[in-house]
Amino acid sequence: MCPALADNNYRTSRTERPLSDRSLIPPCQAACPLRMEIREYVDLVAQGRIMEALQVIREGNPFSSICAYVCTHPCEEACRRNQVDKPIAIRSLKRFAVEFGGDRMVYATAETTHSEKVAVVGSGPAGMACAYYLRKLGYPVTIFEAHSHIGGMLRVGIPQYRLPRDVLDAEEQRLTQMGVEIRTNTRVVSLDLLFEMGYKAAFVTIGAHQSLRMGIEGEDNPGVLDGATFLREVNLGLKPSLGEKVAVVGGGNVAIDAARTALRLGASKVSILYRRSRTEMPADPLEVEQALEEGVEIIFLVAPVKITRKRDGKLVVTCVRMKLGEPDASGRRQPIPIKGSEFQWQVDVLITAIGQAPETPGDFRLRTGRGSTIQVDPVTLTTNRPGVFAGGDAVTGPATVTEALAAGKLAASRIDDYLQHRYPQVGKQARETLSGDLLPETIEMIRKVSRLEPPILPPETRAGDFKPVELVYDWIAAISEARRCLRCGMGAEILSQERCATCLTCLRVCPYHVPHLDASGTIEIPASQCLACGICVAECPAKVVILRKPYDRRHIDSELHHILKSAVESKAKPFVVGFCCQYGLFGTGALATLWRESKAGVWIVPVLCAARVESEHMLHAFEMGAEGVFIAGCGEQCARENTASWVQQRVEKVRKTLLQIGLEPERVCAFIPGSADEELGTKLDLFIEQIGELYLASTIMQEVKS
Ligand code: SF4
Ligand code: SF4
Repeated sequence: MCPALADNNYRTSRTERPLSDRSLIPPCQAACPLRMEIREYVDLVAQGRIMEALQVIREGNPFSSICAYVCTHPCEEACRRNQVDKPIAIRSLKRFAVEFGGDRMVYATAETTHSEKVAVVGSGPAGMACAYYLRKLGYPVTIFEAHSHIGGMLRVGIPQYRLPRDVLDAEEQRLTQMGVEIRTNTRVVSLDLLFEMGYKAAFVTIGAHQSLRMGIEGEDNPGVLDGATFLREVNLGLKPSLGEKVAVVGGGNVAIDAARTALRLGASKVSILYRRSRTEMPADPLEVEQALEEGVEIIFLVAPVKITRKRDGKLVVTCVRMKLGEPDASGRRQPIPIKGSEFQWQVDVLITAIGQAPETPGDFRLRTGRGSTIQVDPVTLTTNRPGVFAGGDAVTGPATVTEALAAGKLAASRIDDYLQHRYPQVGKQARETLSGDLLPETIEMIRKVSRLEPPILPPETRAGDFKPVELVYDWIAAISEARRCLRCGMGAEILSQERCATCLTCLRVCPYHVPHLDASGTIEIPASQCLACGICVAECPAKVVILRKPYDRRHIDSELHHILKSAVESKAKPFVVGFCCQYGLFGTGALATLWRESKAGVWIVPVLCAARVESEHMLHAFEMGAEGVFIAGCGEQCARENTASWVQQRVEKVRKTLLQIGLEPERVCAFIPGSADEELGTKLDLFIEQIGELYLASTIMQEVKS
């Protein structure tokens, strides 16, 4: 072994590095009711590894296609990129992954390992999730659904332009494939009957389909419809007659859905009456925006107080104007009627959408509480009846699809505990959650990159039919958007304070000035500020800085070890090692894949950012017999700072070492294009040709010498 190339660090501390995931839970994941590994799948999309992204998504949520359309994405609100410019478009990236990864083609299977049958009453998201996970746990499961297809509110409440029905059909088919028995057109009227039929447990998830009444005079007039019934009828294929002018009362998603549906059914003027202001509106802001674009009018700070019906069938709605007072129990400012501000308004149809509640059949004999919701033990999800569990909107009142899916998943685990006579396992969080905002000085140093929105149908086209409004990113847009992620919580940490020589290299090299000396004189790297660029990891001479999350299967050390072993075993000469950044679509990642398949003697080490390749990695490749080494990265498109300059500095360092040991410095080269470089492939070909010539020349020299 050449002593000049010996790098004891490489073989000792480096190989000792733990490969375990020590990362902190990022805020996006902490905000998700299903605790989806968002950072992980967004990173995989950024690398163009879509099938793997889909795998991560499906592990967290088997109904990801549904969420890709209708999740209210609380993760985006929590996303730390919000502090820099705009949050990552997480839901749209998920949609891209499920569409391009082929989620609908995924085949689900399950084996029956238990004999206890479980009944799931209702087939909304909570029921579907509960059935799925119980089946995975090996139980025979039957879903009872009053309608002709499963889906609950997803099918009868959400309009098709927001959630196409083939998505639900695919989920229904998948549940059947797994062996879930689905009994549609079957309304359960008594839970006793289910137990008589041999079911050992029941999960009641009947949703909240009953519209609340406004409690005003004239509410029962013909022409006054309730929002839930209106949407159900339309979603089941009916076409209620609406006339020209429609008013919708309410400020939530049902009100917006009803208004946009009325437009699509041909109403020429649709107005929403909301008693508070836009700030207090509970509807998804994107849905509100899209409704306005389509021509829905929203009249704020008004409430109907009386409805009269004229002889010609038109409705005269008496409204009162409101002002906002102090916040009420919901935390929103309370609407207060302004005396003498009444005005009248004539419409053909008035749709009420001021809230919904569950309607639990009396024969179920379940204890209900506030808002007619079923009362359950918050830990066990058991009701007042043994063996009967409940969850979803029937327990919480109208909530989000993701919350309902989470409730269904939890119910499956609690039912399993019950049937196996176990005390419920209340899971402890395995990892800590990242806390703390980015500091203003860190924000200042992060490059601002505009959020890319997926394409949507133009308002004038979409208001005429029920086609999905939001379209899917193309590959370039999805990858570009995913690359904006800050990889929160997976940054650097000091592995061993004892081995840290306090040389201050990390302080000097960090582009974001994150590491600092604390009061006791030890180096601290605050997790909340680190952007996981890996530069300090590569530069630390004592090799005591590590990234909290290794680069999964493509961890650079193990990948290099594996590739060099294969290269040496192949005995093919000459061989060249290329470290290729995996981010981007037409970048070096794609090139690496092509080369791996087509270029004999070129061994590619995929890396997540060229800035993470250390001089020692390159020297180790030479030590193992490589004739040439190159690094290819994405340059100007890199999401991190100073990548090109660090790569170049390390290449120069390796060149000097090569010179010292009598090897040509041009055996190592960096290819960091300024932008998308179409000639990159040609340049790399030339480099490999040149290495071949150097190898030939050195072989001839050796022969001459001998
Ligand atoms: S920047 Fe990325 S990791 Fe951080 S919160 Fe947003 S999506 Fe999650
Ligand atoms: S990984 Fe990068 S951002 Fe984090 S401390 Fe090290 S050099 Fe700074």
